[in-house]
Amino acid sequence: MRRKNVSELLLPTFKYHPDPISSGSIVASGVKCKACNQSRGFMYIGAVYSSHELDDALCPWCIFDGTAHRLFGAEFIDPKAVGDYGRWDAVPGSVMDEVCFRTPSFNGWQQERWFTHCGDAAEFIAPVGSAELQNFDSSLYKAIAEESGFSTDELAQYMKSLDRDSGPTAYAFCCRVCGTWGGYSDTH
Ligand SMILES: [Zn+2]
Ligand SMILES: [Zn+2]
Repeated sequence: MRRKNVSELLLPTFKYHPDPISSGSIVASGVKCKACNQSRGFMYIGAVYSSHELDDALCPWCIFDGTAHRLFGAEFIDPKAVGDYGRWDAVPGSVMDEVCFRTPSFNGWQQERWFTHCGDAAEFIAPVGSAELQNFDSSLYKAIAEESGFSTDELAQYMKSLDRDSGPTAYAFCCRVCGTWGGYSDTH
């Protein structure tokens, strides 16, 4: 049996974002959640869209059970960006709801997009730079390189410039159905 990651031991299990602690989207925090008004030890620090001010203010449990979406209309990614405006696979409405309304996303330098494959949303793994890319299957490097659209002349330089913390950053995803690595980077 696969070993559980640290997020699975401490947090609700997010189907499309299996380890939000290691990806950096959820951090240990003593701050009270604006949805449940409790301090539960962890806080979400990724992107959130709402007419309410919710930056760094929601606990993982209120994302998971839909409370944050119900109370504040919180969206964690723009529905149109799931599948990149139709460029990647379309996904069923139930998947769309789960990804947009009940799954922590991440912070991109440009508008976040969610990779889809095999008719499903992929798992978000982590933001990565050129250093981190070395630790993944080489097919991820290839996927990010191809998606960037840079010509052969500029590509190596661009890939070297990817940085997890200062951008442009690449965003690693893995298909839940076939295991294909994919994603995109901050090219525009
Ligand atoms: Zn909460
Ligand atoms: Zn797939």
